[in-house]
Amino acid sequence: MQVLPLQSGAPTKECPPHGRLIVLTGPSGVGKGTLMQALLQRHPELYYSVSVTTRSPRPGEISGKNYYFISRDKFEQLVAQGEFLEWAEFAGNYYGTPREAVLDHIRSGKLVVLEIELEGARQIRTSFPSALSIFILPPSFPELENRIRGRAQDSEEAIARRLHRAQEEIKAADEFDLQIVNDDFETALNHIEAALFA
Ligand code: ADP
Ligand code: 5GP
Repeated sequence: MQVLPLQSGAPTKECPPHGRLIVLTGPSGVGKGTLMQALLQRHPELYYSVSVTTRSPRPGEISGKNYYFISRDKFEQLVAQGEFLEWAEFAGNYYGTPREAVLDHIRSGKLVVLEIELEGARQIRTSFPSALSIFILPPSFPELENRIRGRAQDSEEAIARRLHRAQEEIKAADEFDLQIVNDDFETALNHIEAALFA
């Protein structure tokens, strides 16, 4: 993980009403995106924050739906302008959460969900102590590797970086308010739903 020599994803003191911000984190390939899609189908009233990234789109990914895909130069410019609520470098690419869109939706009373990696989740915990943080765990490491490979959308190099990073991320699972194992998909989805609407 590198930090840009610009302004960091600095914590802010913009505190939302309790429980309006949800952070979903877990290793690449654990099923976060699939769980999010299913959750949004059940609860269209949720606001899913579309992140900005310098990663190239995977087949089928749509700009504005999955991510906003931009260049590294543009990303660094947005960091310097303070446009991100948090940002981090992951497996060689930058990822960040657009500040204003998220704050606007929190202000309008929405339940806002961020699907972000560990460093970003740590930044959010500092700036939004009342956020609910959830860590999604795989049933086993071999199963995580199966899922990343089964997705068949990353290069060998990208897979190796993600698996290496996954080991570090899983060690940090205890930092989160809740840990949910995504073994049986429906069970995991029901647990997330129960946590959000408790
Ligand atoms: P992430 O967003 O965490 O990187 P994805 O949502 O892309 O992960 O899921 C990675 C792969 O794992 C996908 O092919 C998805 O269909 C599959 N998957 C997700 N949840 C489960 C599950 N509970 N059991 C088996 N496969 C799953
Ligand atoms: P992927 O390239 O597989 O879509 O995402 C790689 C990792 O970046 C995942 O763990 C995902 O949750 C995380 N990620 C996606 N958007 C953001 C973001 O805005 N900020 C941070 N910190 N991580 C993100």
